[in-house]
Amino acid sequence: MRLAERFLPFAVAAAAVAVGYGLSVGLAGYFVYLGVSAVVAAIALLGLGVVTGTAGMVSLCQLTFGAVGAFVVSACNVAGVPGGFVAWLVLGGLAAAVAGVLVGLPALRLRGITLAVVTLGLAAAADLTLVQIQFPGATEGLPVERPEAFSDDRSYFFFAVLVLVACGLLVHSLRRGRWGSSWHLVAFSERGTAAVGAGVRTSKLTAFAVSAALGGVSGGLLTGQVGLAFPASFTAIQSLALYVLAVMSGAHLIDMAVFGALLWVAVPELLKRWGVPQDWGFVIFGVLGIQALAGRGNLGTAVRDLFHRRRSRGPAGVGLSDIADVEPLPPGEPVLEVRGLSVHFGHVKALSEVDVVVPEHGILGVIGPNGAGKSTLVDVVSGFLPRATGTVTLDGRPLTGSPTRRARRGLRRTFQQDRVPPGLTVGAYVRFVARRRLPGTEVAGALEFFGCPPARTPLSRVDAGARRLVEVVGHLLARPRVLLLDEPAAGLPHEEHVAFGRRLRQVPARFGVSVLLIEHDLDLVRSVCDRLTVLDFGEVLASGPQADVLADPAVLKAYMGETELL
Ligand code: ADP
Ligand code: MG
Repeated sequence: MRLAERFLPFAVAAAAVAVGYGLSVGLAGYFVYLGVSAVVAAIALLGLGVVTGTAGMVSLCQLTFGAVGAFVVSACNVAGVPGGFVAWLVLGGLAAAVAGVLVGLPALRLRGITLAVVTLGLAAAADLTLVQIQFPGATEGLPVERPEAFSDDRSYFFFAVLVLVACGLLVHSLRRGRWGSSWHLVAFSERGTAAVGAGVRTSKLTAFAVSAALGGVSGGLLTGQVGLAFPASFTAIQSLALYVLAVMSGAHLIDMAVFGALLWVAVPELLKRWGVPQDWGFVIFGVLGIQALAGRGNLGTAVRDLFHRRRSRGPAGVGLSDIADVEPLPPGEPVLEVRGLSVHFGHVKALSEVDVVVPEHGILGVIGPNGAGKSTLVDVVSGFLPRATGTVTLDGRPLTGSPTRRARRGLRRTFQQDRVPPGLTVGAYVRFVARRRLPGTEVAGALEFFGCPPARTPLSRVDAGARRLVEVVGHLLARPRVLLLDEPAAGLPHEEHVAFGRRLRQVPARFGVSVLLIEHDLDLVRSVCDRLTVLDFGEVLASGPQADVLADPAVLKAYMGETELL
């Protein structure tokens, strides 16, 4: 990473602190108060940006997490817990994170509208409960003590800005790290996440926890602003509106979360000034939210697109850079052994009694017409179809369990469909898939070897064919024992297809990885694979050294269609 890029967030943070200070001194008193409200909303929106914007889950109870933070801060205030407001705020955030995990646990099994209903129901239930029990100190009228140095409204605003900047830096650094990559990946494809050996559960729960923690901090901060927390600040309808605002503004981008927060405060304020009932604000947010959800895109992406279009150099093509060939190694003992594999889908026998062996340093080609069962074979071996019968062993030991577990044992796979999340850069994605510390030179070298765009390129600017090569590179850098490739070059033009084959041939020697390749292009198969297994209607039609298989009359007749191969 370039030095400037590493320090940019800190420079932005310092600028934000300076602006915050300036505003705290210069703004009229009433605007200082509104400013705190905006900062509170910005922190809650940042959290929503993580869980919905980045990790792709619906969460309609963000203000319930806010209430948890407010409750903890109020309780600490009443009990006089040592450490003061700052410590209480942190405790509130932590308690909300725990609540986030508790909500996230059932969410592991729920998606889309169901998750929306459950989280909104939770928000409504919490809302009613709060009215019953009230916040600690509320009935006695015991206001929360602000930090000593920030006790008046102006300095409290500055304090709130400091908290926002800290939260922004936290989200920024998390998003650049492993958790952040896993959020992007899980939003785009749960299967893709499991296939890289990352836990789908962990990805979702960390997103919920971080999001809820930020919700909790925002609730705590609000309590410091108003002194006494009231249930009316944390209603289900407000959570819903905040979600809509997060979607609409694109709150997964930090600046857009701030922008959304300004709207959150400004719209009701303007309505009030114009003499319109403030609840119309919800209607306005609702209409804008429907626009965003209906796929018109959100404001954040629209702004970023403008910015990127100016900067973009366009996707780097897959070039034919000349890299010295290395001699292939002779195939050795079996690494992956599949015996007697059978799978049914209702009456369809997708695989029956299939045997497949991948030798060490080998590249086994699996060919067969559409619907022959090739992808099903990859699904079974990688653990995505647990109801198959038969045995799979890796290095002589049974390979069982979830896809995540199998990936961690050294069996990696790619998908026939695109599973590469557009929200990351090439480099961040490759590092995440590799799941180990990698020097930049190793990443760059592997990307260059396969003619992929450089690490800094956003994946959204890489075409579908090249994205799948990036996926291959990531898995190879994980150094698995075996990599299963399901038509990896399908999206590439012919000459790049050929170039890919040449590179693939060198994979066992360069990366120490054995390969099972599913491929349609027979030229490629011929130039790359030592051995072939032909599937037809779920059965093995022929298997053995490439030349023998391609000359097998049964193969010629059933699959290749007459004599065009001869
Ligand atoms: P290939 O990858 O060789 O083109 P597949 O493995 O995708 O073939 O499919 C093998 C057969 O199993 C096809 O007849 C397909 O329709 C069927 N099949 C695959 N997945 C499913 C599924 N999830 N449900 C029902 N049938 C399936
Ligand atoms: Mg297939």
